[in-house]
Amino acid sequence: MQLATNYRQTMTNTYQQYFSNEHEMARQAARRFVQKEIAPFVDAWEEAGSFPRELYQKAAAAGILGVGYPEEWGGVPGDLFMQIVIWEELARAGSGGVAAGLGSLNIALPPILLLGTDEQKERFIRPVLTGEQVAALAITEPGGGSDVANLQTTAVRHDDHYLINGSKTFITSGCRADVLTTAVRTGGPGAQGISLLVIPGDTPGLSRSQPLKKMGWWASDTAQLFFDDCRVPVANLIGPENMGFYAIMANFTTVHF
Ligand SMILES: Cc1cc2nc3c(=O)[nH]c(=O)nc-3n(C[C@H](O)[C@H](O)[C@H](O)COP(=O)(O)OP(=O)(O)OC[C@H]3O[C@@H](n4cnc5c(N)ncnc54)[C@H](O)[C@@H]3O)c2cc1C
Repeated sequence: MQLATNYRQTMTNTYQQYFSNEHEMARQAARRFVQKEIAPFVDAWEEAGSFPRELYQKAAAAGILGVGYPEEWGGVPGDLFMQIVIWEELARAGSGGVAAGLGSLNIALPPILLLGTDEQKERFIRPVLTGEQVAALAITEPGGGSDVANLQTTAVRHDDHYLINGSKTFITSGCRADVLTTAVRTGGPGAQGISLLVIPGDTPGLSRSQPLKKMGWWASDTAQLFFDDCRVPVANLIGPENMGFYAIMANFTTVHF
């Protein structure tokens, strides 16, 4: 009995060490948002294989979408624990697909935040944090996902633009993304030949599959993308050319904001 009491007290102390009243207020606000805007519809959205695009704007207006991103690019102040409470509450909706689709910005934007210029942050990050645009991260290819250093999609430089050819698969939010943070091969083989480019969703030569069928996460659109001589300005290169592998590894393993 004493052991259980001690355990409960330790857990309470630990919680209070990281989660303040401010976190609790954010949790309650996120919970209300989920109860009103998501929970009543999740079953229908899962069956439909999609959720309405307006949800991004609603989540942005509720201060949920951009939590933890710098205010100067349209984010909402908040530490890592603020993000934890928000995403815990989103998970309560009972649909991993909605959380994954709504959250694809959190894998697509960090490399831009980390390595992008101010002009790129204004152009790519702000519209996503306001919910007007959707962002996706495109790394995995039909030939293999774990072996990132071996990716085959090429971007060949011609003066002020790259020509991109290849394909990507299993891309979360891939069907409707406007901002595609994409790993491409700009150099020789291996990890040293990879760069990150933002490919706008309306780029001629970019085509997308129908949402791929999956065992779960039905409400999250997951697409295959095809690049056929897609012309993308060099101004969309994120960080130095041929250094993209390291940005990708940082994106997989660290928290940036
Ligand atoms: C629902 C969903 C959403 C996704 N969203 C995105 C997204 O938004 N963006 C994106 O870029 N990707 C996305 N992915 C892709 C995901 O990152 C890849 O599926 C993952 O990287 C694994 O790649 P793969 O499926 O090609 O498997 P493979 O790399 O072919 O691996 C197959 C199996 O072999 C094993 N294996 C691989 N290499 C080795 C090795 N050297 N030694 C021993 N075992 C090995 C793996 O562990 C695995 O079990 C998504 C996938 C899913 C299913």
